[in-house]
Amino acid sequence: MGRESEIRVSKFGGSSVADADQMRKVRAIVEAEPTRRFVVPSAPGKRTPDDIKITDLLYRTYDAAAAGESIAPLFDQVAERYRNIVSDLGLDFDLDASLAEVHDQIRDGAGSDYAASRGEYLSGVVLSKLLDRPLIDPATMIRFDELGSFLPEETQAAVSERLGQEESGIVPGFYGALPDGRIKTFSRGGSDITGAIVSRGVHASVYENWTDVSGLLMTDPRILKGPRTITELTYRELRELAYMGATVLHDEAIFPVREAGIPVHIRNTNDPQAPGTRISRGGEDVPPADRITGIAGRKDFTIIALEKTLMNAEIGFGRRLLGVLEKHEIAWEHMPSGIDTLSIVIKSNVLSGRLDALLDEIRSECKPDSLEVIPGIALIATVGRGMSHVPGTAARLFGALAEAGINIRMIDQGSSELNIIVGVENDDFKRTVGVIYDAFVDGHKD
Ligand code: ADP
Ligand code: ASP
Ligand code: MG
Repeated sequence: MGRESEIRVSKFGGSSVADADQMRKVRAIVEAEPTRRFVVPSAPGKRTPDDIKITDLLYRTYDAAAAGESIAPLFDQVAERYRNIVSDLGLDFDLDASLAEVHDQIRDGAGSDYAASRGEYLSGVVLSKLLDRPLIDPATMIRFDELGSFLPEETQAAVSERLGQEESGIVPGFYGALPDGRIKTFSRGGSDITGAIVSRGVHASVYENWTDVSGLLMTDPRILKGPRTITELTYRELRELAYMGATVLHDEAIFPVREAGIPVHIRNTNDPQAPGTRISRGGEDVPPADRITGIAGRKDFTIIALEKTLMNAEIGFGRRLLGVLEKHEIAWEHMPSGIDTLSIVIKSNVLSGRLDALLDEIRSECKPDSLEVIPGIALIATVGRGMSHVPGTAARLFGALAEAGINIRMIDQGSSELNIIVGVENDDFKRTVGVIYDAFVDGHKD
């Protein structure tokens, strides 16, 4: 097979490798198409709603080791899952040496990132046998600096170099290494990022992301029953939706593929015939038929609202306020403003234990006329590249929320006109998503 031929990278999520039956589906998908040369697996996920993900079991195993407790009860559950997969697949190989190595490393103090990464690593070992392809350890290619920040350029060069030598292979997701060789993981759900990095490294023609839903749906199916599938969307829309809670793809997975212009195709391992969702740059300027593309949201934000007469004329006001946040190392999400008002929206968990000190300092640095803290806020983003082309989108959205009696605590519209974000009480979260969906999709759509 020449290097010039088409290459697809296929990333399989946790549910797609949860047990032997799922792994057989993976094999059928990969073997159905010779261009599926590189496979990126996650760790086995939940088999039933009450099951525990391997990654979570491994974090718990690490916690037990760190607390000086026996890791056996937890690690045995991990080992048992993999042993069952290997025997149910009828594979003639012994995983015990690999399992013993992982056990001893965790017991002897390897870090939590090492522990968590072994879920993907062991999936890779099994798939390498099942598909008869080499296992390529991402620790040799995916690089982080001493402080744990991902190094995109070095990584891409190393991935291209290493994978350029292989016809095909299995690259476990989720992790890479620090300069001293210790394992470092991405944040949760990070196998999606590995898939994107591998796609860029091998100049893939498509990055296939195989999961347990038939594509990106207009909203989270756990919030609203049976939302429509989005057939096509742009990288920018996906980034907005993913960041705001459409966790089907990690929001940071977009960067490597967007830079290289590689389309992402979200597909269902349990229904490979379904068309899925395609994400690309294409159509970024073309207004879609629907005025909104999707709705996503998250709970548990806090609004800090400042009011000060003539704030707009006070040079340096914004800088002082942001300076206080920077000093406290607090990242903020949104900053909607009016003439004499300014609000900052921050994830509530970031503020825990630090709010009083932060407020004191804002008072002394910015001297606001009033300072109000509103906890328990959910943010809901309505996203669509079509919104800027169709007048009245905002009117329809706010009209529907008003009609439903939902109290809007904050509004922010990105300058890209790609989204409108509303802040409501946590308790109104589900209802708000439903009302917006009905207003644009099932309701009085023209
Ligand atoms: P994987 O293990 O394959 O990476 P994830 O659990 O990370 O899968 O992501 C798939 C899940 O994302 C779906 O099962 C669904 O519950 C959830 N999800 C949240 N928002 C959306 C959305 N807008 N469309 C589809 N799925 C969504
Ligand atoms: N296994 C990791 C997690 O559970 C990474 C992933 O699934 O993408 O977060
Ligand atoms: Mg995922």
